[in-house]
Amino acid sequence: MALHEMKDPRKSDPEADVFTSALSDQVLPKYRMPDGPSSPRVVHQLLRNELLLDGNAAQNLATFCTTWSDDEVHRLMNECLDKNMIDKDEYPQTAEIEARCVNILADLWNAPAGTSATGCSTTGSSEAAMLGGLALKWRWRARQQAAGRPTDRPNLVCGPVQICWDKFARYFDVELRQVPVEPGSTGLRPHQLAEYVDENTIGVVAILGVTYTCDYEPVAEIAAELDRIQAEHGWDIPVHVDAASGGFVAPFLHPDVVWDFRLPRVASVNTSGHKYGLAPLGVGWIVWRTADLLPEELVFRVDYLGGNMPTFALNFSRPGGEVIAQYYLFLRLGRDGYRRVQHTCADTAGFLAAKIAEMGPFTLLYDGAGGLPAVSYTLTDPANSPFALYDLSDRLRMRGWQVPTYPLPPARDDTVIQRVLIRHGVTRDQIALLVDDMKRAVDHLAAAPPPPVENRQSGFHH
Ligand SMILES: *Cc1c(COP(=O)(O)O)cnc(C)c1O
Repeated sequence: MALHEMKDPRKSDPEADVFTSALSDQVLPKYRMPDGPSSPRVVHQLLRNELLLDGNAAQNLATFCTTWSDDEVHRLMNECLDKNMIDKDEYPQTAEIEARCVNILADLWNAPAGTSATGCSTTGSSEAAMLGGLALKWRWRARQQAAGRPTDRPNLVCGPVQICWDKFARYFDVELRQVPVEPGSTGLRPHQLAEYVDENTIGVVAILGVTYTCDYEPVAEIAAELDRIQAEHGWDIPVHVDAASGGFVAPFLHPDVVWDFRLPRVASVNTSGHKYGLAPLGVGWIVWRTADLLPEELVFRVDYLGGNMPTFALNFSRPGGEVIAQYYLFLRLGRDGYRRVQHTCADTAGFLAAKIAEMGPFTLLYDGAGGLPAVSYTLTDPANSPFALYDLSDRLRMRGWQVPTYPLPPARDDTVIQRVLIRHGVTRDQIALLVDDMKRAVDHLAAAPPPPVENRQSGFHH
């Protein structure tokens, strides 16, 4: 046996137990690539051990995103590992499936029959928001140019939007006119619009499932107010609906809420396939009512991959598995299946809301009915409470639950709230266990009040 092999007889022993291998005897290299290769079995196991330190996704009640997928989704994701969404010539069937999904969503959102709704998949609602915002900006500029008016000061009007709209505004040089939330309100209200819109408004964003409180903004009333403003001033201001979560909830739970392409003023809608669309992380969608609403100058045609395919995207290469999984879920569940999933979640949210209401210290802000399957609440009397909601979050975290505490948006940021999202895979029993843990935590905090901490910040999850 060569001398160097004798130094560490375990090194080349394929039979060795994972945890007696040479690599598992060391602190892993962190900032420099190791010189040589290691056993895949050992490296895989060591990384799994490290990842145990991450939060447990199933107990993360802060996220809107999918944390459970069936075995078939796992298999499809594996089988689609090599599919590149951009390469529509090499993977024409993946491109075809993307187009089917766009059509299914246009139909789900009541695009007028016989018209040419168009759209695409994205990495999530954030990229979709960039694309939607760009189309608004380009169309506004064309309108202004045609009328011989200046094009240097575009603005976008919205309520308490998700951070992606701040990004859009900053990255693409648009003034974001964020309308403050009024006392007692949770989002943009139609009577506030007149003060904020003008001829330089590229569009109004209405949110179906406000990030902070999980209820819907009144899209139909917002559109009606913009009709009135158009009649008065002549400004034809389109609405983009950010339906990141609501786009997959409202059609199934609230079919009578008119928020989608049934409203002629709604030009485009985005949603996150990886939220209530139930697909795994990495897919969003944007759909325009008609093809002419997507300016041709924004569409690129690449021919060096073979063929000539139009694309509108911020990214180039991107995995195709999520899109395939989205189509699988459409076929697997159908409308009835989605309805049952979202109903089950909403029922569980209602169950949690009732328990929180009867617990004592809390006042519900949103009880899970009429919007997303979620609950938000605040302390009834924070000034005289023996604990802050931040303390309750910390306490619940000891049991693995992630329940975020955060202030409402500016103008209402003196109100600190907590929010629980109920998603596919979060069961009634789990929530009953959470309720028990909440009661225990409240009792503990009341018996041993923590010192007051000023200006505490929490991790606010999108
Ligand atoms: C989550 C969310 C986004 C961002 O979506 P991603 O899919 O995470 O990029 C945008 N708007 C709203 C209302 C959201 O809830």
